[in-house]
Amino acid sequence: MYDIIIKNGLVVDFKIEQLRKTDIGIKNGKIIAIEKDLQDGINTINVDGKIVSPGFVDIHMHEEIIGNTDDGDDYDIGNKMLTMGVTTAVGGNCGNNRMGIIDYFNFVDENGAPINYMLYIGHNYYRNLIGVDRYSAPTEEQLEEMKKLIKEDIAENGAVGLSFGIEYSPGITYEEIINICNAIKDYDVLLAAHYRSDANRGVESIKELIKVSEETGLPMQISHLGSCTAMGQMKESLEIIQKAIDRGLSIAADCYPYEAFSTYIGSSVFDEGCFENWDKFYDSILLTEEPYKNVRCTEEIFYKVREEYPKMLAVAFVMNEEEVIEALKAPFVYVASDGLLNRGQGHPRAAGTFPRIIGKFVRDEKKLELIDQLKKMTMLPAKRLKLKDKGELLIGMDADIVIFDYDKIIDKATFDNSTELPLGIDYVIIDGKVAIDSGEVINKRLGKSIRKVQS
Ligand SMILES: [Zn+2]
Repeated sequence: MYDIIIKNGLVVDFKIEQLRKTDIGIKNGKIIAIEKDLQDGINTINVDGKIVSPGFVDIHMHEEIIGNTDDGDDYDIGNKMLTMGVTTAVGGNCGNNRMGIIDYFNFVDENGAPINYMLYIGHNYYRNLIGVDRYSAPTEEQLEEMKKLIKEDIAENGAVGLSFGIEYSPGITYEEIINICNAIKDYDVLLAAHYRSDANRGVESIKELIKVSEETGLPMQISHLGSCTAMGQMKESLEIIQKAIDRGLSIAADCYPYEAFSTYIGSSVFDEGCFENWDKFYDSILLTEEPYKNVRCTEEIFYKVREEYPKMLAVAFVMNEEEVIEALKAPFVYVASDGLLNRGQGHPRAAGTFPRIIGKFVRDEKKLELIDQLKKMTMLPAKRLKLKDKGELLIGMDADIVIFDYDKIIDKATFDNSTELPLGIDYVIIDGKVAIDSGEVINKRLGKSIRKVQS
């Protein structure tokens, strides 16, 4: 007797790189059978002709600010992740955490969560907490304090790795990065980094991250490559990364499928010189919150909002879509949302990334290939995160599954309406239990914390 039988689905099989019409039997949270004509399920889901994929593993998103939403549901971003088929996501990216990782993990485990969460510990989280100015270097004492706290989160508190947000704290030197990495390099950790700068300085920024990996021996996940070099430098940056991989380094990257990035208007990303670097004007910036919701900047508005509403999310239309597509074709670039919302407002990537790739770029525009992209949404990030039981549909693996209608799947979130839910995600199963049933969210609390255990 199975808890769930998924009948007649087109099951994603990465071994043969194809879809295979078969059934899946689930019991106690695990996949225990993959064969035709399974019988005796407590719950049988008939999905004739729909695609059955491993749940999406989003290696780069941003966790919630607990208590930040108006409707009393803390998981503003996590809820969007679930509705686009994500079952496991990694927060703490770009050097930033919303709260201490132990507190976040405990909140998730006490309250349940829409999806499973892993967390990086963010370098800037502690850098800011202990009062290092973003344009300065830390004192010797501050550096030692940071190293102690970061090491503790890696060794004991379950962080999957360490993330940097170099662009957000221009005072970070290469030496500071190496110094901190050296304190944790005996552990099993993944580094992730939001680079030092983009566009004309993007390539040198990527070289710096490769050098960090080379010098420390630690694997490096380069964050949202599109917003770094899809301004004319993508070809060169992909070649440089490929060469580093060929030399034996463990480098990968992630990318979201949009031609605009998003971050806080008060951040150093928008410091003097940014428009010259992008070769754009003030009107390339769209504001996302009242009293400037959906307003394009003028020079006056830009400086006023930076001064008065530095925590407002802004969207910058400065990338080329063709270069984003080029990135998504590279074998070492994974699909990740970089999902980030502030009181329900922000960039549509938080609610649209995965359906957009499949519906728009694979099915409609035929610019990307289905199995290849699914691999970048599931198996590859799961392997990178060393999640041995996730990312593939194989016997013995966790029953984290998304079932979607290939003819209907599409993102609906836009820059004007950034949290509109996608279409075509029919079922999401987390840990062998149904979270989305026939397109309806029926359980938003199946997710848990996944804390990295160091041996
Ligand atoms: Zn970032």
